[in-house]
Amino acid sequence: MDFTITEKMQTIISMIDEFVDRELIPLEPELQCGNFKEMEPELEKKREMVRQMELWAPNHPREYGGMGLDLMEHALVSEALGRTPLGHYVFGCQAPDAGNIEILHMFGTDEQKETWLRPLVEGKTRSCFSMTEVELPGSNPTMMDTTAVKDGDDYVINGHKWYTSSSDGADFAIVMAVTNPDGPRYGQASMIIVPCDAEGFNQVRNIPVMGDPGEGYFGHGEILYQNCRVPQENLLGAEGGGFVIAQERLGPGRIHHCMRWIGICNRSFDLMCRRAATRPIAPGRTLATRQIVQSWIAECAAEIQAARLMVLHAAWMIEEVGASAARKEISLIKFKVANVMMKVIDCALQVHGGLGMTDDTILAFFYRHERAARIYDGADEVHKVSVAKRILNDYPAGTAR
Ligand SMILES: Cc1cc2nc3c(=O)[nH]c(=O)nc-3n(C[C@H](O)[C@H](O)[C@H](O)COP(=O)(O)OP(=O)(O)OC[C@H]3O[C@@H](n4cnc5c(N)ncnc54)[C@H](O)[C@@H]3O)c2cc1C
Repeated sequence: MDFTITEKMQTIISMIDEFVDRELIPLEPELQCGNFKEMEPELEKKREMVRQMELWAPNHPREYGGMGLDLMEHALVSEALGRTPLGHYVFGCQAPDAGNIEILHMFGTDEQKETWLRPLVEGKTRSCFSMTEVELPGSNPTMMDTTAVKDGDDYVINGHKWYTSSSDGADFAIVMAVTNPDGPRYGQASMIIVPCDAEGFNQVRNIPVMGDPGEGYFGHGEILYQNCRVPQENLLGAEGGGFVIAQERLGPGRIHHCMRWIGICNRSFDLMCRRAATRPIAPGRTLATRQIVQSWIAECAAEIQAARLMVLHAAWMIEEVGASAARKEISLIKFKVANVMMKVIDCALQVHGGLGMTDDTILAFFYRHERAARIYDGADEVHKVSVAKRILNDYPAGTAR
């Protein structure tokens, strides 16, 4: 593995760092007040600046207007953008659109690409991904109640989803629904593109999460599909192929998320060190003179570096041998980096004392919003069980069931 960062990437990263510091971090206080919709015109101007800098949609295909960076390159970009919650959105590489773009690109028909993919890459539309159900475990999505039944030329969809992130204001959802109830366990569900203005697509509410009511891109929708009718040509990929596509969606997506979390670690760590170095704790003494704080700083530095290298290694594995062969590495980073991030944010918040609990720094926002990292895209426990099983396969006498 080669850790050299090319000159091209060094230039891109320093442009992003500067932009984040100058244009985005000053906007954070408004986001912390939950005013996303009011911010949209201002954010659109920032997006236009990013387009002018030719840094728009870094990981998306060139033919659709992105920069076409490879996974390792985008990992570095994601780290740089992760320092602010606005980074990925303003550069056109935010979840859940990024994952939807990947699967539309891989599995969409030419017509679907023109209708749904192109405007999405261009940032003219937004999308959401609707898999998790209210009544059944997201950790085992083969248990799914939502159905899509053929009727004439259409599918008729019925079901109750939640945590359809960014559904508020989205143009379309990619919905996971059972189309082949008698098929094999992993061949029963399909992905279907559903316009959010289709009759029967009912947004019940934005779910309040950790005290944030959520709105627009930053909302998490509860959706009732009630006889929601879409043409059969909105099927994405093969019928019954939903889980195969879902796997494709999650591999590179976890690299993006994990590097975004490393970016959050870097920002929190920086705030922690600044505060420790300047906060008086006794006459002539700052917090940084206290060994316990020094210990947190050293431990966090080591954890961040280890986690970062693990993610870059997993990205390298995906590029070398493919996401399927890198499943162990992907699971390892998913739970490891989420927990490192929580530790670093927590230490940074602790060093800030009462200030850390306020919204006068970004730390409390990170603390509230990023706790979910240990749950979405596979809860810690799911990944740990999966890793352990893979490892134990090499020890036949102790093979885990
Ligand atoms: C902020 C946020 C955004 C999200 N965005 C989306 C989205 O855009 N689209 C979407 O479809 N979904 C989304 N989700 C949903 C997410 O994917 C699910 O919450 C996740 O898959 C867990 O499913 P669940 O909530 O039903 O928990 P459950 O499956 O009920 O699991 C509950 C807990 O049980 C434990 N557990 C689960 N399985 C095992 C096991 N095998 N062994 C031991 N313990 C286990 C874990 O601790 C887990 O947290 C989002 C969730 C959050 C919090």
